[in-house]
Amino acid sequence: MLQIPWKTKGIVLTAPQPYKNEVKDVADFIEKILAPSGVNLVVLQTRYRYRFQRHPECMGYDPLSPEDVKMLLEACRRCGIKLIPKMNLLGHQSGLHNTPSDGILHGHAVDGVTDFRDGLLRAYPMLDETPGAETGFYARHLCLSHPLLPSILFDLMDELLDVFEADAMHIGCDEAFNIGLCPRCAGTPPHILFSTYINMLRDHLAERGAKTLMWSDRLLSSAETGYHAYEASANGTDGAIDIVNKDIVCCDWHYESHDEYRSVGVFADKGFRMMISPWKDRESAGKFLRYAIEHDRGHIDGYLQTTWCSSGELARHYLYGAPPQWHNTPALIETLNEHFLSPDAIRRNA
Ligand SMILES: [Zn+2]
Repeated sequence: MLQIPWKTKGIVLTAPQPYKNEVKDVADFIEKILAPSGVNLVVLQTRYRYRFQRHPECMGYDPLSPEDVKMLLEACRRCGIKLIPKMNLLGHQSGLHNTPSDGILHGHAVDGVTDFRDGLLRAYPMLDETPGAETGFYARHLCLSHPLLPSILFDLMDELLDVFEADAMHIGCDEAFNIGLCPRCAGTPPHILFSTYINMLRDHLAERGAKTLMWSDRLLSSAETGYHAYEASANGTDGAIDIVNKDIVCCDWHYESHDEYRSVGVFADKGFRMMISPWKDRESAGKFLRYAIEHDRGHIDGYLQTTWCSSGELARHYLYGAPPQWHNTPALIETLNEHFLSPDAIRRNA
């Protein structure tokens, strides 16, 4: 396990599935495996999977109850871990379930495959940037100019902040390709649409005393950084980096192997604080970590590991030795074991 020189060691976990009785296992995973590994931040990928009171129509599949959230929150607090909710507030509004089905709406529905709309668009299809499309080019997007959007989103965000008792929220906003396509948005440059929207979300969270974290790929130029059009923007949003509020924490995710991670320097030059976020590939995670340590100009807050599998699947593996289910999970486990989790914590529970 590489020693991380930053104050934050975090992990993004998908919300456990109450229907499969996973909440207690994930709480145990946090206490028995993550805490002894030095983890001090859990970002819970909740999306719409919560029993919202003000907008129950927006509930996602297999939602968490307030009691489920409290169980996770208490486990985190017992071991000094901060728990914050994560939503996807731009793209990733639809998709396919992972295989074997684990309730995680994260698979990519490409052209010709019918996608499942997540909670908000299922309830309010008029908020879709491309409502008439057969498929959302693997993931549907919200229309950033729809006048109904802010009031609904703010209600949903407020409820999650309240139940998580959180002083921060991760707003997602990665891989946003479908920007400026509808008649309301057309004519406004993508970086203006994007930055206006991000600042609106940030201001709402700040009014509630909460910090904003986001995936920062849309703030990077693909041409200037050399990253492909998923890890950085080729759709004109990158000019937003000069407009969005500098107190947003940029979560810089890169899953491919690169010789240089130029985004580390970009965020320092532009005056942002950042975290680095690798995923399942052991080699690229190691390269990214080493590059960031070498090129840190005091602007890196931490290491935020992504997982994207079911958190119940991870918990069952580390607590009971259950074999991984999703095809990406074995590689992820290798990476977690090498770079992220303490060998003692794994051994004690083996
Ligand atoms: Zn629009």
